[in-house]
Amino acid sequence: MHHHENTTSDFDQLRGIIKNLIQDNDEFVNSHPPEYFDPFELQQHPRATVVTCADARVHTQALDKTPDGDLFMIRNIGNQIATAEGSVEYGVRHLHTPLLIVVGHVACGAIKAAAGNYSSESDAIKHELNSIQLAVKSDELTTEDWLRGVIANVNNQVNYALIKFADEVKEQTLTVVGAVYDFQNVLGQGQGRLVIVNINGNVNTKHIAASLLALR
Ligand SMILES: [Zn+2]
Repeated sequence: MHHHENTTSDFDQLRGIIKNLIQDNDEFVNSHPPEYFDPFELQQHPRATVVTCADARVHTQALDKTPDGDLFMIRNIGNQIATAEGSVEYGVRHLHTPLLIVVGHVACGAIKAAAGNYSSESDAIKHELNSIQLAVKSDELTTEDWLRGVIANVNNQVNYALIKFADEVKEQTLTVVGAVYDFQNVLGQGQGRLVIVNINGNVNTKHIAASLLALR
């Protein structure tokens, strides 16, 4: 049986990573008095169910200053609902969040993979990529088609949710929103901008702008 030999530097690196996490958590504990945890110590009342990509460049602080107790987070490769349907359902039907938001992002590796030939991936990865359906399939996606794929997947996931939660949307207890987190500023609205691309299936940008103005 083959054993992977950890070199000293591997070990030092790992120790550094864990040490850093513990230090950051220490800082968090010291800067958050017990009162901070009071509102959600015994229960959670999140205001949104969020389905987002597991990508390391996408995090809650970009869309919520204090996400604790606020966001019911579901993360996976390609921000898809089908492989995490129970979790999404829990947020909507048990925690009754009035908002379900699907957040895709620029330069998503899962979208690139799903557009190409991923037959050599493991069954577990294939299973997740299978729920990303794209019109343009290519192993060498152009930047434009990659971005189109990201947006198309967000729209597909919103449509999936609109069918699944049709009753809640009809009763207006749930709004389903699709967004793209743009850490490259390819959409020209600022680096780090969360760009709304879909509200309850409406992808008309003028209509979206009007809806967002009404929210202010
Ligand atoms: Zn991604």
